[in-house]
Amino acid sequence: MVECVALVVAAGRGERFGGETPKQYMGLGGEPLLRRTLKAFLDHPAVDAVCPVIHPGDRELFDISAAGLELLEPVAGGATRQESVLLGLESLAGMPPYAVLIHDAARPLVDEGLISRALSALDDVPAAVPAIPVSDTLKRADAGAAPLRLVAGTVDRAGLWRAQTPQAFRFTDILAAHRRLADENLTDDAAVAEMAGLAVALVAGSENNLKVTTVDDLDRARRLLGGGEIRTGIGYDVHRFGPGDHVMLCGVAVPFSAGLIGHSDADVGLHALTDALLGAIGAGDIGSHFPPTDPRWRDAPSATFLRHAGDLVRARQGTILNLDVTVICEKPRITPHRAAMIERIADILELTADRVSVKGTTTEGLGFTGRGEGIAAQGVATLRF
Ligand code: MG
Repeated sequence: MVECVALVVAAGRGERFGGETPKQYMGLGGEPLLRRTLKAFLDHPAVDAVCPVIHPGDRELFDISAAGLELLEPVAGGATRQESVLLGLESLAGMPPYAVLIHDAARPLVDEGLISRALSALDDVPAAVPAIPVSDTLKRADAGAAPLRLVAGTVDRAGLWRAQTPQAFRFTDILAAHRRLADENLTDDAAVAEMAGLAVALVAGSENNLKVTTVDDLDRARRLLGGGEIRTGIGYDVHRFGPGDHVMLCGVAVPFSAGLIGHSDADVGLHALTDALLGAIGAGDIGSHFPPTDPRWRDAPSATFLRHAGDLVRARQGTILNLDVTVICEKPRITPHRAAMIERIADILELTADRVSVKGTTTEGLGFTGRGEGIAAQGVATLRF
């Protein structure tokens, strides 16, 4: 008899970081996130088999990600997580194991000790959930919307725990519970067990066993694994002054006695940063993505170019660590607009403002910028993969 099967639920597709790749197939420390998760269970001495539950549309991605791993035939998931788990359990019902571990694929850093603790608890109870006592003070928000959301009250955190996975169950108990409660909308399998009246034990979870749901989580997971690969890109751009009453610089319209000539809005700052991002991922330059000969880009806002470069970075599973741009001109003065420029760039790329720097410098009256013939900009981008 098989003692223990791990059911790894990877069927979700709702949340994406940008690009087309579901998060469980994103890269983490040189391999797909899902592969790392699967290996954590394959490598555990008490786990006899690993059964992935995947989205039917992800079969090709799955086959690439899991190549060479000895897994049970992947099960096609359902419309909800709960349905996917039930389908996974049903696939095992013909040869029922004693224990099943049910795990979210999005927790790739699960460790051997945590898996062992969850399984060991089954000696005493039919179900166990790894969890961490809540140490932060909990606030309930009022019904308002961001950015001004008010606190409606403080929640007593005594006795509150944050549940993780893998959750361990005696197989026949959890299968029966899932079958009976298939119409309930429950967020984890422990809740199914609880509602079915099973005793559920709490075992010690781990802060490192984080659930990757945002780009920041993926970056945190990469840091926990020791850093990932760092890449740098550089960009440079110049536009000439012409008639006009303002210049677009770093996404901000700066009133001036001239304009800048260009096919798009001639924003040298955003062009330099766009090229820096493209450079860091080896994806050509701004001209190859947005040819000046293409009428679509006439007078285009350069935010479009920068956002596209940011999307390409995300599609390659990179995280933008920081951007630094220097605008080079005698006039207009950059300093009064710096804060707005930083905010605009951060906004375009959905970064926090502390990851963006804008500086202005003159060339002491020398050269074309010194003579007031145009504006130049240099940009640098640092990315983690
Ligand atoms: Mg340009």
